[in-house]
Amino acid sequence: MTGKTLKTITLGWVVGLILSLCPQILAAKTVEVLPNIFAIVDGEGVDSNTTFIITKEGVIVIDTRVSPKEAEKVMTEIRQRTDLPIVYTINTHYHGDHTFGNQVFKGSKTIIAHKNVLQSLIDPSAKDHLAKFKTFNIPGMDEVKITPPNVVYEKGMEIFLGGYHLRLIHRGRGHTDGDTFIYMNEWRTVITGDLVFNKQFPYMGDAYVDEWIDALQFMEDQDNELIIPGHGDVGGKPLIIAMKHYLLVLKGLVRKQLEKGKTLSETKAAVRPVLLEKYSGWKKQERLDGNIERAFLEYSLKEGL
Ligand SMILES: [Zn+2]
Repeated sequence: MTGKTLKTITLGWVVGLILSLCPQILAAKTVEVLPNIFAIVDGEGVDSNTTFIITKEGVIVIDTRVSPKEAEKVMTEIRQRTDLPIVYTINTHYHGDHTFGNQVFKGSKTIIAHKNVLQSLIDPSAKDHLAKFKTFNIPGMDEVKITPPNVVYEKGMEIFLGGYHLRLIHRGRGHTDGDTFIYMNEWRTVITGDLVFNKQFPYMGDAYVDEWIDALQFMEDQDNELIIPGHGDVGGKPLIIAMKHYLLVLKGLVRKQLEKGKTLSETKAAVRPVLLEKYSGWKKQERLDGNIERAFLEYSLKEGL
């Protein structure tokens, strides 16, 4: 075999591999992670995850994706497997990529979330939140009718349906001020919402770093093996630990700059390259500056105390 032939074959193989990977990267995929517990991960446009549980008494849906169009795809996945009704829909937090599909599940009559999610979605600023998502050029955003939860809780709530037991927990602020994560003790499984991003920089636009770290520590201390994150593939406990470490590193680096009396732009210039190198395999690097800014804001306020 000549070197040229080998090169052509190698190139063909690489192109083929890339082409075969592309649809999987873009299209949402449904994985049965445990018996009757399905996670839909990735997706076109925005890659927020959805979980649905098919019990013998009906279906529970957790997070409804970014648009009715995307939510209809979830409904199709459910209907391919069961005709049972959707009994409960749960939002892990108010962000549009987890709630803008709610209207498709309105038939369940029960959309559950932390009480601050209701506040965020009935607030006039919810329209700005939707407008921001519309700038991302995601198909079907014009059909979104913001649909707030109609059952809310404050600290915790438990659901028993068809042999499945879900513990909804709010440990205080973190990714937002209304985060819910869901434990299924019998399955040693936690559905984290956006308290965990897998191999990508988190969105931190309305985050609280210290409280987020506390929530992750609590999660880490629980008896769990399977982690369904808000974004990215399903995994094990290292997903929680990696997210916590990222926030601790971000906090440490930003505080060091604050102690030296550096400005925000100086802090960004110093911290950005360190994080980029340490987390070179993570996606969504465009969020880094926002992450540094949010930590800078939080710790400059705390330094002043
Ligand atoms: Zn979010």
